[in-house]
Amino acid sequence: MTQEEFYEDLLGFSDLKISSIEKTDQKIIFHCEVKTKVSTCPNCLEPTGQINQYETRKVQDLKISSREVWLHIRVGQFICPSCNRYFFDTPKWIAPGKSYTKRQAKWIFELCRQQAFTQVGALVNLSYKTVERLFYEMAEKLIKLPERYARVRKLGIDEISHRKGKQDYACVLTDLERGIQLDVLPDRKQETLTAHFQLLGVDFCNQIEVVCCDIWKPYINVSKECFPNAEIVIDRFHIVKAINDVLDSLRKSLRREFKYEDCFKSIKWKLFKRPEKCNETDFALLQNAFNKSWLLEEIYQLRNTFNSIFDLAKNKYQLEQYLNSWIEFAEKLNYSHLNTFIRTLKNWKPHIVAFASQRVTNAVTEGLNNYLRYFKRISFGIPCFKHMRLRILVASA
Ligand SMILES: [Zn+2]
Repeated sequence: MTQEEFYEDLLGFSDLKISSIEKTDQKIIFHCEVKTKVSTCPNCLEPTGQINQYETRKVQDLKISSREVWLHIRVGQFICPSCNRYFFDTPKWIAPGKSYTKRQAKWIFELCRQQAFTQVGALVNLSYKTVERLFYEMAEKLIKLPERYARVRKLGIDEISHRKGKQDYACVLTDLERGIQLDVLPDRKQETLTAHFQLLGVDFCNQIEVVCCDIWKPYINVSKECFPNAEIVIDRFHIVKAINDVLDSLRKSLRREFKYEDCFKSIKWKLFKRPEKCNETDFALLQNAFNKSWLLEEIYQLRNTFNSIFDLAKNKYQLEQYLNSWIEFAEKLNYSHLNTFIRTLKNWKPHIVAFASQRVTNAVTEGLNNYLRYFKRISFGIPCFKHMRLRILVASA
């Protein structure tokens, strides 16, 4: 076996013939040509063997023992005698119009899932712009939107903040059964969502059995309008967050009232923690604060009970009963922020208690926020919406 034959076998492209090999410490260059001397005219589909001229294409392939591999391929420009057309016949394992093989593109794409484009660029000796373009082009093909939507029965609608503190929200759609992101929409306006779901078609809308979302009127309106067979469930964690906000607003006003007391200062996250996750120090600090404010302790206990009734209720009738007694008790405290929360509970009660029959939450989207923080770090700041969307969808492809 000659050296050339050995490498032809190693590369594994059946139609490639190596004529000579150039090696340096960094690179291996294979000078080669395509074996087949007949091609088919893309215009009239007639076979032709007439070659007008040759051109050398330089194509990058997967590394061999950490040396870059380049194929300098002589490709023929064919002439079609039937329709007089000139065309190049490029091997099918080269990405059309690109300077790398398809398998090299796939490898670069996989690297991009984990790291910044600049790092990948340095690894494969391509500019970060080329790497970026490759990634987004392949991502677009990989996400297969229609397939994603086809099997959805339980839909989560939630948002992520695109730019922190700017009220700049993107809307995230989740398949709650598979725990994957279906799509990301540029905002959370009612007309954006309605248009999106209408475009997905009647069959899609009819197959949705459950929608889980937070208390945001457009979400609820859209769900009622677009999904005739769905039960709407308010996401449990959004309600718990709302009661935690009541706790924190009280803590803040106590901080203002008792300027010289430290006990309300650093307990925000300890108040939010579930008691079963608190250690003795946490409890001691909380107790100090409770000694100064009985109201804080009352609302803290109310929040804990609130969590438990969601854990314990076996069906929505039971949850409604529990919730009614909870409200009755909470109203006695007559604390303004808490009263606002109670009004919200009463307004949305049917959708809140629906949790007990469906047991769905949007917890998946919470995890997405961590991924986005990481992604913003590796992409040097704020990515444009289109790219952010593709990154998210590829991560759950
Ligand atoms: Zn032709």
